[in-house]
Amino acid sequence: MYDVIVIGSGPAGLTTAIYTARARLSTLVLTGQAVGGQASATADIENYPGFKAGVHGAELMEAMQFQAERFGAEVVMDVVTAVDVSQHPFAVTTYESEYQARSLVVATGATPRKLGVPGEAEFVGRGVSYCATCDGFFYRDLPVAVVGGGNSALEETNYLTRLASRITVIHRRDRLRAAPILQERAERSGKVEFKWDTVVTAIEGDKAGVKSLRLRNVKTGAESTLAVDGVFVYIGMTPNTDLFQGQLELDAWGYLVTDRHQRTNVPGVFAAGDVQDRLYQQVAVAVGTGAVAGMAADKFVAELEGRAYPERGTT
Ligand code: NAP
Repeated sequence: MYDVIVIGSGPAGLTTAIYTARARLSTLVLTGQAVGGQASATADIENYPGFKAGVHGAELMEAMQFQAERFGAEVVMDVVTAVDVSQHPFAVTTYESEYQARSLVVATGATPRKLGVPGEAEFVGRGVSYCATCDGFFYRDLPVAVVGGGNSALEETNYLTRLASRITVIHRRDRLRAAPILQERAERSGKVEFKWDTVVTAIEGDKAGVKSLRLRNVKTGAESTLAVDGVFVYIGMTPNTDLFQGQLELDAWGYLVTDRHQRTNVPGVFAAGDVQDRLYQQVAVAVGTGAVAGMAADKFVAELEGRAYPERGTT
């Protein structure tokens, strides 16, 4: 039994743990498949404050884990398979074990959306990737494509300019959603070509992996083929809320609904980070909501024990 169980170990989850462990609540962080969440797979984070030259995502997340553990949080690499918030204490089941929690902080993040075209599932790991930082190395001096027009697509395109021979950005509209600074950088590289108003209709290849993409211009209907060795898909995120279907309130897009104190509709269950943030999905924002969830969980546990809050102190 823990005072707080945090599900997820991205910036939101680890920040919550820093706050709750430092407030002397027994805190367990169940990391999921890997520690650090999506931020760990980001090469350079340039807009997280406090780092003059930006920071390597994995380095930042390692530091957050160290900080949480220094205050006594237990960080366990395990995957949650079921949660029951209909009873209190809450029940959390993982691959390895079963736990009880007096309060729960959901920081499960979001997962890259899939294109859903023929060949995508077949070629995952053999040319289809959702993480340029992880897989870009395999495409040194080879032509690749990036699908999407948001910040993720353009940041990863810029990362790939260090490795690939040519990057074709395929976007379904004629204007990017990404910040202008990212587009300018891509254009300056001399390695990036934009294919506007275009969607991928199929991913083709052979035993060795991806060889080409079938494309369609959405305005003219014209079909074409693009020869590439890899395709990186960045078309937005899906919140990781499967565990909570029917238990916690979700919005129309499937994100958890929270209030100003990161409370969900079940008292004692809080949520932080991308799983409850359709709009911003920033490390700096995730950290902020993680801090609030930590303090709110501390208050919830204090009230359960009949202690005045913030007697135990969160400062
Ligand atoms: P996003 O901002 O939602 O962009 C998704 C892109 O994919 C859009 O350009 C969208 O096209 C396109 N798209 C969506 N569904 C598609 C489909 N089925 N087929 C083809 N294209 C499709 O997602 P994101 O780039 O993953 O970013 C998620 C959040 O994280 C955003 O809030 C973003 O600002 C943030 N983020 C910030 C940074 C940073 O600040 N440095 C870095 C990464 C991410 P349309 O434009 O036509 O809708």
